[in-house]
Amino acid sequence: MPQACEHRLSGLAVSPGIAIGPAHIVEGGDLPVAENHIPQQEIEGEQQRFAEAVAVSLRQLRKVKAKAAGLPGSAAEEVGYLLDAHLAMLSNSRLVRGVKDRITRTQINAERAVQIEIDDIAESFAAMRDPYLAARIEDIRVVGARLIRNLIKKPYVPYSAVAEGAVILAEELTPADTALIDPERVAGFATVSGGAEAHTAIVARALGLPAVLATPGLLERARAGITVVIDGIDGCVIIDPSAATIREYEMRRDALARELRSLARLRRLPATTRDGVEITLEGNLELPIELQQAVANGAMGLGLVRSEFLYMNRDDLPGEEEQYAVFSALVRGMDGKPVTVRTFDLGGDKIARSLSSHSVEPANPALGLRAIRLSLQDRRLLDPQLAAMLRAASEGPLRILLPMISTAGEIRRVREAVEQVARRLRRRGVALPKALPPLGAMIEVPGAALAADALAAEADFFAIGTNDLIQYTLAIDRSDEQVAHLYNPLHPAVLRLIQFAVEAALRRGMPISVCGEMAGEPRFAALLLGLGLRNLSMAPRNIPRVKQRIRALDMIAATRRARAIMDQSDTGRIAALLDDFNAVALPR
Ligand code: PEP
Ligand code: MG
Repeated sequence: MPQACEHRLSGLAVSPGIAIGPAHIVEGGDLPVAENHIPQQEIEGEQQRFAEAVAVSLRQLRKVKAKAAGLPGSAAEEVGYLLDAHLAMLSNSRLVRGVKDRITRTQINAERAVQIEIDDIAESFAAMRDPYLAARIEDIRVVGARLIRNLIKKPYVPYSAVAEGAVILAEELTPADTALIDPERVAGFATVSGGAEAHTAIVARALGLPAVLATPGLLERARAGITVVIDGIDGCVIIDPSAATIREYEMRRDALARELRSLARLRRLPATTRDGVEITLEGNLELPIELQQAVANGAMGLGLVRSEFLYMNRDDLPGEEEQYAVFSALVRGMDGKPVTVRTFDLGGDKIARSLSSHSVEPANPALGLRAIRLSLQDRRLLDPQLAAMLRAASEGPLRILLPMISTAGEIRRVREAVEQVARRLRRRGVALPKALPPLGAMIEVPGAALAADALAAEADFFAIGTNDLIQYTLAIDRSDEQVAHLYNPLHPAVLRLIQFAVEAALRRGMPISVCGEMAGEPRFAALLLGLGLRNLSMAPRNIPRVKQRIRALDMIAATRRARAIMDQSDTGRIAALLDDFNAVALPR
């Protein structure tokens, strides 16, 4: 029973694990910025002051980057990538140009100009309603705060005096600050603000630091040195926990450590069921930097590379050369294992500035000019992607995947485009493999699942995108919190569509995988395998847990249970049948 003295606060669990330790509180607060009028004759001097602040900030960031290069595992790469983005924001960027222009045009002091410019950029990003861009707002604010600190000469105080085993509590931690936390010394951290998509969360996960963000009331309750528990699994921070609570969390922490050790041992073991059926587990990549994680988690290939990241957060389009460099690095990085690159899934709510001229504001973005529809509407978008993929395919096994396919004609048209682009490349003297890469269709529109037999005649493989399939089948916007509770992978309509697509593929002996979030949840593994799937692709960090589940499964029993589930029409009954089955499987 928790005692009255302890305070439980809930926040956003962004990096799993349990931390227990004395609180180290990072003093924060807004930097004071006044607005001053700069007379005409002093504008040049003010510009000079701003240029110096930019130069100092660049120097500081390069220093942080050099230090971050020594971080463990993929963290060095993650942080390096992030700091490069910060460095780019200080090099003739919209931010720097905007501030210079504002100083001259409105005759205000540099720090105030930085503040206004940042708010302006943040507002235009927020208007795009893109979670990726929303997370970048935080980066821009961090860079802006550094500039202001250097302008008002308020030095940044790092948390160098943190006691061994402490937990850090702060209003906000920048990703660069987070990168400098030594995970050997610090047990975890919690902040008042921040989001799951933000880089601070990514860095925390890369460092393996338990973390909870967006915790209101955190700093009102805490005092330096007081014991704090950070539960990065359930998103909970407990200030001044009772002895019983501490004991409970110590036990959970030890159990987690044991589980992690046994998951790590699974890395090199195959994902084989108890009765000897081998399953292929692959990785989904949102960003190329996740390649390292996929390899580290034992991915047998990349089942989904979302190429839209190449188009985001920039004003121009990525050309063939740039895309080729990214795809070929992935092919080489996977060292002979298959890499499935998806043509961009942009349009609708995934907006790229450079493509804004391609469509009018859609009334219903999810049903509009999105993904393959947009690619086929303008071959100047599709062809460079295909050329980059074809060239990368000469360096290792690459498959081309098409998002939001709804008709067989779309696959045919892309195949013609692939052949044309291949002819053009060969005329250019580019050596391509004789057999062009397999061309696959995402099954994520209910109509595509229902017409899977017709699509199977045109495609070389299928990848079921359960995220969109559920959204479109149940008419639930996957990003709308108000209807999130209705988003149910176990709805019989969803399962029947999956079954339909699997059977169409198996009848033709055609490869089929699942690459939606469902594939990465151990809970669904028995059902998906029981329906006939043998390839699952997921966020790399989910691979070990799904593998563990598969290694504890009996395929004959799973198939029998899947059949029983498919006879049901009630979602609750389906869930009960699945969860009962999961509860009795023995670990191996
Ligand atoms: C899906 O819809 O399940 C899928 C994998 O694609 P995305 O999440 O990129 O839309
Ligand atoms: Mg999708």
